Amino acid sequence: MRKQIVAGNWKMNTTLEDGLKLAAQVNELSQSLPQDVELIIAPPFTHLHTLANKLQGGKVKVSSQNCAAWDKGAYTGEISVDMIASTGASHVILGHSERREYFGETSEILLKKVKLTLDKGLTPIFCCGEVLDERDANRHFEVVQTQIEEVLFNLTEGEMKNVIIAYEPVWAIGTGRTATPEQAQEMHAHIRKCLVKKFGNAVANATSILYGGSCKPDNAVEIFAKPDVDGGLIGGASLKAEDFIAIAKSFPK
Ligand code: PEP
Repeated sequence: MRKQIVAGNWKMNTTLEDGLKLAAQVNELSQSLPQDVELIIAPPFTHLHTLANKLQGGKVKVSSQNCAAWDKGAYTGEISVDMIASTGASHVILGHSERREYFGETSEILLKKVKLTLDKGLTPIFCCGEVLDERDANRHFEVVQTQIEEVLFNLTEGEMKNVIIAYEPVWAIGTGRTATPEQAQEMHAHIRKCLVKKFGNAVANATSILYGGSCKPDNAVEIFAKPDVDGGLIGGASLKAEDFIAIAKSFPK
C-alpha cells in the first residue's frame, strides 16, 4: 500500500503569528482524518522551528519549501538541510516550478539538493511538470520524464524509496485551471512506468506520486480516485484549514 499524502505549500504567505493560527487550526481539524492519511505543511523557513515544536508528536508533519545546494559555509542567506533538520522539520519540497522559473534551478542543482536532503535523513518532495507550450506541443510526457531521469535516476534504489514525487503541470498552478483526472492519471502512470524501468516494480509501486495544480475540495475527490494518484500538493487551498482538510478527506473510502 502506498502512503496517501496531502501536503500544503504555503509559499511566501503568512506572518509567524498567522502561521501559528493556521497550523493550530489544521492540527485541530486533522484529528478527524483517517489514520492512514499523512498530512504535511510547508510554511516559510522562519516558521519551521516554532511550528515543528507545536506540532511535535501529532499528525501534521512539517516541511521546508527549499534548501541550499551546499552542506554549509560562505553562502550568505542560504539555509542548509542540517539547519532544516534541526528545526524538527522532516520534509523538503524541491524543484517547485516557481523555484525552477524564478531562481534558475536546474536538474544539476536539484540533484545536489535531493542528495543532501536524503543524506541528512529528510524526505524530498520532488516536483516536476510541463509548461503550457510543452503540453500544447504534445511534449509533456517527454519533458516530465527528462526532469525525473536527470535527477531521480541518479539515486540508488534505497534512496528512491524515501522520495515523494509531485506532478504539477505548471499551467495549472495558481491558475484555477486544474488538470482533468484523466490527464493527471495518464501522467502519474507514465511516471510510475519510468520508475519501474529504472528501479523495479517494488520501488515504483511504493512511491507516492502527488498531483498539484489548483486542487480544491470540489475537484480532489475525482482526482484522488485515480489509481496512480496518491494525494496532492496544495498551494492556495492549503491557506484555509477547512479546505486543506476537506481535500485530505477526499481519498476513496
Ligand atoms: C503549488 O504551488 O504547488 C500549487 C499546487 O499551487 P495551487 O494549488 O495554488 O495551484
